Amino acid sequence: MKLTEQILTNPQSAPAPLDNRITLAYGDGIGREIMESTLAILDAAGAGLEYDTIKIGKEMYLEGHASGISPEAWDVLRRNKAFLKGPITTPQGGGYKSLNVTIRKTLGLYANVRPCRAFTPYVKSHFPDMDLVVIRENEEDLYAGIEHQQTAEVVQCLKLVSRPGCERLIRYAFEYARAYGRRKVTCMTKDNIMKHTDGLFHQVFDEVAKEYQDIEADHYIIDIGAAMLADSPGRFDVVVTLNLYGDIISDITAQVAGSVGLGGSANIGSHISMFEAIHGSAPDIAGKGLANPSGLINAACMMLAHLGKGRIAERIQNALLCTLEEGIHTADLYNEAFTKQKVSTSGFTQAVIQRLGQEPSRLKAVRMGQQSKPIEVQVKPYVRPDKKLVGVDVFIDWADGNRIPAELGHQLEKLAGEALQLKMITNRGVKVYPDGFPETFCTDHWRCRFVASASKVDAQGSGMAYAAPVAYSDITNLLQRLTIAGLNFIKIENLYEIDGERAYSLGQGE
Ligand code: ATP
Repeated sequence: MKLTEQILTNPQSAPAPLDNRITLAYGDGIGREIMESTLAILDAAGAGLEYDTIKIGKEMYLEGHASGISPEAWDVLRRNKAFLKGPITTPQGGGYKSLNVTIRKTLGLYANVRPCRAFTPYVKSHFPDMDLVVIRENEEDLYAGIEHQQTAEVVQCLKLVSRPGCERLIRYAFEYARAYGRRKVTCMTKDNIMKHTDGLFHQVFDEVAKEYQDIEADHYIIDIGAAMLADSPGRFDVVVTLNLYGDIISDITAQVAGSVGLGGSANIGSHISMFEAIHGSAPDIAGKGLANPSGLINAACMMLAHLGKGRIAERIQNALLCTLEEGIHTADLYNEAFTKQKVSTSGFTQAVIQRLGQEPSRLKAVRMGQQSKPIEVQVKPYVRPDKKLVGVDVFIDWADGNRIPAELGHQLEKLAGEALQLKMITNRGVKVYPDGFPETFCTDHWRCRFVASASKVDAQGSGMAYAAPVAYSDITNLLQRLTIAGLNFIKIENLYEIDGERAYSLGQGE
């Protein structure tokens, strides 16, 4: 085992961003109205923030900036620790790129945090006891955006999951639970199927959980976990999960809580973090004074807590709850039973400001726990493991004749050479050679697994083909023989043993 230790926290030394000066962008649609409301409340509550304003969104897209942001805006964004962002409208068509994805990836915003709380009876929800936070990995997984068409019939999307990516996120989830006085962190994965990618996430979760004995930790398979979230969300507290699952369940939970219009979210990075409402730019009501600013106000409160101003966030959120329970509602929240006064965006803003310092009597008041201290996450140094090459999966585009796997198998056995042997062929993960079933449907995409040849294994005195090392030149020589034989290989995946453990999945039926 190599004892090279790697410290994986922020290799580039970026200058420390500023705490009291934030970047803000009004955005499109109702953006200006709700941002003005939020800023008025922040100022009235004594947040003591200064602002650098940047332009993003529709105007920037139409000026020709493909990601909806001008190049100069990046310098401002990188100078400040927090970015409060209004909703934006992405024009239809024209190959525009998502601004959120661009910002998330460029600035390394690794955790998406979305609290979901029910505000019954003022906002309808079947689950009055619901009060949970979804913390979703934000950069990896299928969202790395690496997709390829490989054959006429088959396309693929790479699911990338990294140890430091998992660790940073999962540590953030536990630190968040501690800082915000939450008692439990639930991990959701599909590691019964994806043993290596989701398996790594679950494994790192178990490792990190041991360091937080004061916080309860449990795990659900994502399908049953999502069903539970929809059926009995009150049993959850903090949920931490991979990117795709998190994307889906955070929408489910916001919907189930009934609070899509009130929700805020944070995208947390090591240097810079972005805060926004979860709703869109609502162009249908823009400029009419009808917009509910609560989503952005809640996002701004998450920002205050992140900046170490938790007490001010608490004051604002409690004033917001008082306004809600006193029946002072914007049009979207109007209901006969509880609305006493239907107000405009500015009327709502004034009502919140007037209630700063008050606490709600029916709704549970917000208590920030120790959260006036910003959350710091350090990924631990780790020992790089031993990595041994033990074979290769060669993916071949083959549609000859009736696609009889044995024909391809016999040809590959002859081409395997001295150093390698063909172990199996799978089609869409199912073993079709040797000993496949004729019923298995075969596409034109064949995964052909080669391992060290029997003679090489015997020479090593090892009983198991997988245990014998393979040289990189054995693989390049094989690829050359395949090419000369007219076989069209699409890609290869090397098979490794990592610290003596098989580090790849077996084919179904292997
Ligand atoms: P996007 O694709 O940007 O998410 P969308 O049209 O799917 O846009 P929203 O912009 O969130 O979603 O609007 C959905 C509905 O909710 C619209 O009828 C809109 O008027 C309403 N809505 C959204 N946000 C608010 C708000 N803050 N206050 C009042 N109504 C809102």
